[in-house]
Amino acid sequence: MNKIQRVLIVGGTHGNELTGVYLVQRFEQQPHLVQRPSFDTRTLLSNQAAIAAGVRYVDQDMNRCCDRQSLATPTPAAYEVARAQEISRHFGTTGSTPADVILDLHSTTANMGLTLILDDHHPFKLQLAAALSAQQPALRVYSSANSGRQQDALRSLGRFGFCLEVGPVAQGVLEADLFHRTEALVLQTLDYLDRLNQDTPTTAPHPLTLYQYLGTVPYPKDSKGRLQAMIHPQLQGQDYQPLHPGDPMFLSLTGETIAYAGEDPVFPVFINEAAYYEKDIAMVLTRPQQIEVETWVEPESEARTCR
Ligand SMILES: [Zn+2]
Repeated sequence: MNKIQRVLIVGGTHGNELTGVYLVQRFEQQPHLVQRPSFDTRTLLSNQAAIAAGVRYVDQDMNRCCDRQSLATPTPAAYEVARAQEISRHFGTTGSTPADVILDLHSTTANMGLTLILDDHHPFKLQLAAALSAQQPALRVYSSANSGRQQDALRSLGRFGFCLEVGPVAQGVLEADLFHRTEALVLQTLDYLDRLNQDTPTTAPHPLTLYQYLGTVPYPKDSKGRLQAMIHPQLQGQDYQPLHPGDPMFLSLTGETIAYAGEDPVFPVFINEAAYYEKDIAMVLTRPQQIEVETWVEPESEARTCR
């Protein structure tokens, strides 16, 4: 029995993130690119109404409505919740064609290059992240495991969910270099999963650098909720670079520098992400940690046949 039987590649969970939308369309037109001998590959444009409208979402963020409660809502009013239920019926762990791996393709306006996002530290996920990092030294791996966020992202519908976040690219814009680098990483991921199924030795054990979530930083605002400062020019585009105590963080509308007041260096990501203004997140702080990755051996209790 193969460890991985079905992989779902998703684009358009946010309808204005075109890299994923057009990559999925390309894979649908050229299915041989993503087919592999040892598993079934499916593709999906998830938030179709938002893609058609060219917006992030229509009623609510589709990447925040795949939690148990939303999925159990009898007659959801929001388009995205209804769509999440439909996708769960197909690709969820108890669906008609369950996905072992969901790879959800996103883009960001922040300078995050190629970033793989993990929501937990399951040995399978760490092993995949380490193998891809060994092949793609430019790949960064960000872990939201400490964020306290519930499992409400679309990728959480699968047995193993991954998010690929690429940038910088503006919303509603396709950028060729990033498009092709993302495509190459998706194909490498599929190749890796195919080798894993065939028990071909992959890469040697490899130390993995995980950028672990520490917290978010809001924008400085006045009592009426209006922005009082912007990301400081010296910090703009400096994702994954160390920010030391006293370094410039924001520049106020009147020209004063607001420094980072923490006690230890941090490594901000999602700096000035356009979609996070509505969430009042100016950046997400992380700290890198080197970990040794063990080879994943699937316990019988976790195998799909036993569910
Ligand atoms: Zn997104």
